[in-house]
Amino acid sequence: MKLWSAVLCPFKPYSARSYHVLAIETSCDDTAVALIERVPGISPGLIDHEKVSLDNSRAGGIIPTDAQVHHMRELPPLVDKLLNRNSLESADLICSTRGPGMFGCLSAGFNFGKGLSLAWKKPFVGVHHMLGHLLTPRYFTNGENPQFPFLSLLVSGGHTMLVQSRSLTEHQVLIDTLDIAVGDALDKCARELGMRGNMLGFELEKFCHGQNSGLSPDSKVPADLEFPIPLHNSGKQYSNIAFSFACYLAALKRAETAHFPGGLASLSDYDRQELGKRLQIALFAHITTQIKKVLKVEKFGRPIHLVCSGGVASNQLLRSMLSEQLPDKVELYFVDPKWCTDNALMIGWTGIELYEAGLTTRLDSIPRSRWPLSELVEEGYWIMS
Ligand code: AMP
Ligand code: ZN
Repeated sequence: MKLWSAVLCPFKPYSARSYHVLAIETSCDDTAVALIERVPGISPGLIDHEKVSLDNSRAGGIIPTDAQVHHMRELPPLVDKLLNRNSLESADLICSTRGPGMFGCLSAGFNFGKGLSLAWKKPFVGVHHMLGHLLTPRYFTNGENPQFPFLSLLVSGGHTMLVQSRSLTEHQVLIDTLDIAVGDALDKCARELGMRGNMLGFELEKFCHGQNSGLSPDSKVPADLEFPIPLHNSGKQYSNIAFSFACYLAALKRAETAHFPGGLASLSDYDRQELGKRLQIALFAHITTQIKKVLKVEKFGRPIHLVCSGGVASNQLLRSMLSEQLPDKVELYFVDPKWCTDNALMIGWTGIELYEAGLTTRLDSIPRSRWPLSELVEEGYWIMS
């Protein structure tokens, strides 16, 4: 099987000297740009980073064409600003997200990156967005930890998966969602509970923060109201190990019809906090339950390194439930919440790892809105130096 094209890199390949990296992320609704100075073997130093998020609060969701226009408008001045602010005229390596994501959004950043590569005569790397999330902790240890092989729980607005990474280019999805992502479910439920803003999962966590257990005497929330933990009883067979989050919004609506005739909006803050807390516990219990099933079925070495990344990974309740409920042999890696949501640092670092492994991307490559992690290099758009 042909792993990658044998075309030689048209621009000067990786050398041991230090170099500047320009990274661009535009897969969804955040336009993010990073500048990194890489001293090989010594450090990757973030020089600058900025993110301009599209305000989706009025639209109630992301409208792909609006997001594409947002990137086309915001990206060029943002790159210009970061270069000027750091007295740089160009970079030595350009990295853009290639996929997965919304095609129009990806195209805005990917084509811009290819154009800069051509203009500056510097190599280009088209980065897999989820690989970016899962490699983020390695940036903070200069590529040392976690070492391959390791597991990653990627929990974001578009994905929920447990991935086993054997090397930089070999990844296997062990658990995937059958329907929507956990972030999407949180956002939909949070909207029903009255949250407004861009990151509704984050707003819900903030809203519920400090909510103690035990109902107040005048609460309208029945003490025995529970949210589902899907696929709970089917865990003996490996084929039934999956995530599923579509049922939570339906369960919340069922609870509204059954118990709250005035609607969720009529409930006190206290009661809406209680519902938000129980929802989060149920969603995250589903995640830990399914991971525990995989840990029983698959043979892993000890300790098992597990990266938790993606926007939802900034949730403190999820972090503590993973720490408390997964077996001791699991060593968890969390990054600072700032770097859990979409950002360009993760794209730059992943580009650096690929580039230093000898891989760059051909300029006739196109974005991939669907791009399975297991097909990272199985096509002809890579250049090996
Ligand atoms: P991403 O797709 O990785 O950019 O992450 C965005 C998703 O993460 C959205 O669904 C957010 O609502 C969700 N999110 C961000 N912060 C939190 C948080 N603290 N708790 C739960 N969900 C969050
Ligand atoms: Zn993401």
